[in-house]
Amino acid sequence: MAKEKEHINLAFIGHVDHGKSTLVGHLLLKTGVISEQKLGEGEDKFRYVMDKLREERERGVTIDLAHAKFETDKYEFTIVDCPGHRDFVKNMITGASQADAAVLVVAADDGVMPQTKEHVFLARTLGINQLIVAINKMDLVDYDEGRFKELKKEVSDLLKIVGYKPDEIPFVPLSAFKGDNITEKSENMGWYDGPTFLESLDTLKPPEKPIDLPLRIPVQDVYSITGVGTVPVGRVETGVLKVGDTVVFEPPGVSGEVKSIEMHHEAMEKAEPGDNIGFNVRGVGKDDIRRGDVAGHTDSPPTVAKEFTAQIVVLQHPGAITVGYTPVFHCHTAQVACTLTELKQKINPATGEVQEENPDFLKTGDAAVVKVKPTKPLVIEKIKDIPQLGRFAIRDMGQTVAAGMCIDVVPR
Ligand code: GDP
Repeated sequence: MAKEKEHINLAFIGHVDHGKSTLVGHLLLKTGVISEQKLGEGEDKFRYVMDKLREERERGVTIDLAHAKFETDKYEFTIVDCPGHRDFVKNMITGASQADAAVLVVAADDGVMPQTKEHVFLARTLGINQLIVAINKMDLVDYDEGRFKELKKEVSDLLKIVGYKPDEIPFVPLSAFKGDNITEKSENMGWYDGPTFLESLDTLKPPEKPIDLPLRIPVQDVYSITGVGTVPVGRVETGVLKVGDTVVFEPPGVSGEVKSIEMHHEAMEKAEPGDNIGFNVRGVGKDDIRRGDVAGHTDSPPTVAKEFTAQIVVLQHPGAITVGYTPVFHCHTAQVACTLTELKQKINPATGEVQEENPDFLKTGDAAVVKVKPTKPLVIEKIKDIPQLGRFAIRDMGQTVAAGMCIDVVPR
């Protein structure tokens, strides 16, 4: 039997119109996910993909190609939503589609634009540690090596500022529209001796399982199963759970011994990060716990915050955000209204440099350090300690207003 390929979740980020959809479309075509049979010859054949993409866009979805899968020699990739898709940020943060790596698309004619910066900052905030940079639309700059080098420098400077290591990141000059350097080396760029875009994807590393961090299992649902009892269900984010362990659920603080663990209807002795499990805990009833609670070991229980300090970036808000604003914070599986009690500092979203102490308000595009008070108990961890439980999305009026991470906690 062929060995199963390791899996990587891939996000496409970058300024609007820089060619994310076109690149995804072309990639799916070349890897055989979208059939070529229906297509004509030459440039015409991409029209089908483009038309499909355009159609989707008009219906208000970026691409239904989000969540499409394709394979390379080494990996199986799932494309997670692109920014622009309404729930992108929320999905990324709550882990519904946590990306392991991102492709940053930068158009060669435009270069670094505002959303390029915003997405790079966001990718960093969301804990995406691996990047590939696609310098797209090389056809529009005559496949010029000089322009490529200039852009590589410009993008590298931006990446360095937020903490990426550009020396370890592949920069691939390509044309998503014409097909240069996507799966085959382009004759138009003889000066380039690096990998094609597809080859660059195989240089990514598979995500590591955070087994050495404290155990955290955010509860997605709680079932009552005849013959078993109460079964909380959730994904192990960090640490390892074994049958016989004593676990505590926070905020309620109820605890007990793990009697059984199961995944896909099969009993197992231990569960690791990434496993979606149901588990039964002696003495914990269906009404004792609920969605949004987090299970951990009793010797390093989940942190319940009385207050926390966060770094946020405002993605879209029609007006001004001021002290007293109380939107809903989505953190792991919890949704809790929280009040901004202090706007401490406005910071440069790209550099993290302080721009203003105690600003009066925040608006779209601003990044800031704020103090937050949950209206009811909420489990949240410092991003430094347990990154998987340190991120959140702020939602209001059906939109993701901001995204952020917890940098300090005052425990209950
Ligand atoms: P997105 O908003 O980042 O998803 O960008 P799209 O994929 O929708 O592309 C925006 C526009 O740029 C479309 O008109 C594409 O046809 C065009 N485009 C994308 N890639 C290329 C390219 O490599 N060369 C040229 N000339 N145009 C491109």
